[in-house]
Formats: sequence, C-alpha cells, structure tokens
Amino acid sequence: MYYNQNTFIYLNGSYVKAADANTDLYSQTLHYGYGVFEGIRSYKTIAGTTKIFKAEAHFERLQQSAQALNLPYPYTVEELIEAAYKVLALNDLQDAYIRPLVYAPANMSFAKNTTSHIVIEAWQMDPFLGDKMLRVVTSSFERPNPKAFHIHAKATGHYVNSILASQEAKQKGYDEALLLDMHGYVAEAPGANVFFEKNGTLFTPQLGNILPGITRATILELCNELNIPAKEIQFKIEDMYHADAAFFCGTAAEVIGIASLDDKPFTKPWAETISKLIQTTYKNLIAENKKTLLNEVLGTE
Ligand code: PMP
Repeated sequence: MYYNQNTFIYLNGSYVKAADANTDLYSQTLHYGYGVFEGIRSYKTIAGTTKIFKAEAHFERLQQSAQALNLPYPYTVEELIEAAYKVLALNDLQDAYIRPLVYAPANMSFAKNTTSHIVIEAWQMDPFLGDKMLRVVTSSFERPNPKAFHIHAKATGHYVNSILASQEAKQKGYDEALLLDMHGYVAEAPGANVFFEKNGTLFTPQLGNILPGITRATILELCNELNIPAKEIQFKIEDMYHADAAFFCGTAAEVIGIASLDDKPFTKPWAETISKLIQTTYKNLIAENKKTLLNEVLGTE
C-alpha cells in the first residue's frame, strides 16, 4: 500500500528502491522512539505543475526537531526539497504525502550519536481523517507534559501518545480524539490542531503545549488576510461545547469540520460558518487556485 517493487526512496543521499533498502535493527530510533520526522503534502496545482506545499517550513521544522533532540543534522533545506521533488518525479506522483524521517544509527545506550540517517518516502494518501464531518470525543489521555518532552518537536516517540488516544476514541465508536494538556486546557488532536468558531471569531490553543502546526499557522495568516478575527488563547473543553463550529487542521487532515464533541452537536449549519470559508480557501490555496480564492472572498462567481 505504501510502496511496491518499483517505488523509489531517498536514503542518505541516494535514490534507491524501497524494496531493496534496509535499516539497522539495532537503531536507537527503533528501540526508544528517538527520531524526528515530517508530514508534508504535494499537490497538482490548477496549472498542472507539482507543488510541495510549505516545503521550506516543513524542512525547517525537521531541522529544529533534530536540534531539539540533539540528533546530528548535516542536511540543508534546499537539498532536501530537491530530493523530495526527485522522489515525487521518480514515482510519478503529484498529489502525494511526503515523509522524511531522521533516525539514529545502532546505539543501545542513551548516548548522543555522531551520525544520523535520513530517508524520504512518498505515497498517495487521501485526507487522513476522511472528508466527512467528525464525531470527536475528549480523550482520557493528556498530551505529553512539555517538561517531559520537547513538545514543539515532531519526534517519533511522541506518537505513542497519539496512537493510544486515537485508538481509544475509535474503540469508543468516535472518529477521533481531542486531547487536553496537563493543566486541563484543550491542546490538540492526535495528529492535527484544533480551532473553534464563536460569533464570527476563530479560537485556537496558544503555542506551548502543542505541536506548532504549519496548517494552523497558514490558517492564522489567512484570517489576517481575510480580516477574520482569530485568537490564540487557553480554553477549556466546556468553552467549545457552546461554539458555533469547530474543525481540525493539519497537513494530512487538511481542514476537516467537527460535527459533534462529546456527543454535543455544533448547531450552526457548516455551510454558513467561517470555518467552511477557511476550509474552501485552504483548498484553493494548496492548488494555487488564486482566481477562485479571490472570488470566494469577494463573494462573486
Ligand atoms: N499536532 C500534531 C500532534 C500533529 O501530528 C500534526 C501533524 N503534523 C499537527 C498538529 C498539525 O501540524 P501540521 O499542520 O504542521 O501538519
């Protein structure tokens, strides 16, 4: 599903067949969840070209994540963007998900490494939370304490928390979880940030106890351009129960509406919300559909 006999990956400076590549079973990353990665998307633009969305921001965050974890990182943003485009071309992909992973060599101790490895994989992927409005439940799991982890880093080990929360939500019959931070404030979904809308204003948790999402930042920029009031604040789950609308956002999830939270439906019709406008504007932005983008804002055809 992710690769076949003809799939190419980028591995430590070379383009090799995924089926022929291997990794060290003594890697510190495999044993201890000590590695960093990114989740990036490329899109076929309306002009027909392939565009990696926010490529610089993603590879800069990869570097910052590696630095936060003391992983050697001898790569430049430029060379990795070039490698990512080449992986897309070799695999004949346009609308794709791109996964760079920086991982440690064989090391069963907790000591720092003097080298690291990098792989870039790409595959076709539908929106990761689907395209239907979600039924969301508050998780019994909290997001990791920032005093225990560098929570702003996109580290492999943090995703044990995400997997536990997501599996619990699905086992209870919901589509996805919403996690609080260690102080009981709303934090984020297992693999996405969250916004809610009330009386024409958008609210999202402030940075500090969440992954600083690139989609979240893009949406805040869009709000600024469109004169939509948006606030980064601390809020409780109860504040969300009375919202007009809410959505998750992330590279893989894109912008996906939430139908209900803890079985309480959001009552404003999605089509009449600012959240829906953000969803459409984001779709146009990733496809570089500037004409439609403008029409949407101006309310013209
Ligand atoms: N929070 C978490 C925990 C995530 O895994 C993701 C996905 N990377 C996000 C938020 C959204 O981040 P981005 O918009 O950069 O994909």
